[in-house]
Amino acid sequence: MVLAELGQKITQALRKLNQATVIDEKVLNEILTEIASALLGADVNIKYVAKLRDAVKTIVTLQMNNAAVANIRKLIQSTVVQELTNMLQSENKPYEFKKGKPNVVMFVGLQGSGKTTTCTKFAYHYMRKGWRVGLVCADTFRAGAFEQLKMNAAKIKCPFFGHKKETDPVKIAQEGVNFFKEQKFEIIIVDTSGRHKQETALFEEMQQVQAAVNPDTALFVMDSSIGQACYDQALAFNKAIKVGSVIITKLDGHARGGGALSAVSATQSPIIFIGTGEHFDDLESFNASSFIKRLLG
Ligand code: GDP
Repeated sequence: MVLAELGQKITQALRKLNQATVIDEKVLNEILTEIASALLGADVNIKYVAKLRDAVKTIVTLQMNNAAVANIRKLIQSTVVQELTNMLQSENKPYEFKKGKPNVVMFVGLQGSGKTTTCTKFAYHYMRKGWRVGLVCADTFRAGAFEQLKMNAAKIKCPFFGHKKETDPVKIAQEGVNFFKEQKFEIIIVDTSGRHKQETALFEEMQQVQAAVNPDTALFVMDSSIGQACYDQALAFNKAIKVGSVIITKLDGHARGGGALSAVSATQSPIIFIGTGEHFDDLESFNASSFIKRLLG
């Protein structure tokens, strides 16, 4: 189920409350079952669906016998909205860039997740805000990664560092970061290798690059189109390298984004942007509360 449809289904379920003259446990259960099935249909992890259901039930049941129907209706609606918002946000804050110093950001994610495109979008976003941004290609694994990032950098007019023939990602990451630091760049983005799947070699390489460049934050790029698999992937990446924040890609078109959006709690890190297309300006800042409001119309 695509995200827009999920929003409609939840809104429809909540609207049923308007017709109910009595709101008792049975009505509440019916509404929650409908919402839960919509969430599961959009790939939200079953653990979070159960958590949301229990939280709404606990809060609403406490008031059920004492409040007027209109108030119970409002309470259910606002609690569902609040719990959905909680599911998508983290208590941890993202790293904040500081002016006048080099801020090193290491991008990690599987091959095909949209990492290289997202590095470029991210660079473009900050360049337009007046920051001095440099892009480092430390992806020595994927053939064509060097050319792709170099070409992207040229398109957005962003300084680029890379060596086509260098095979050691650690060396190149270190050289690139030093190069931009010496020139007083403010945001230094390091694009690292991905692999087709999570594997020890990938995680070891990530850890070595991290140890070499000591980034201020690691940004995890996750493809929303992989649905339920997002949860395990987010957990594995966060275990291998402490993820500072997350960008979810491909949330445009017919994305079933529920899996990715809810999986973020596995990293306990905030989603900071979502990718909504292939163009360099298809990057939206993410705020859980406005995202849910927009989803529910
Ligand atoms: P990498 O292997 O992780 O570096 O992935 P790439 O950056 O090469 O992206 C893989 C494919 O996904 C490319 O065709 C991108 O244009 C596409 N892509 C990346 N982000 C998005 C997005 O937000 N929406 C859509 N529709 N496509 C995206």
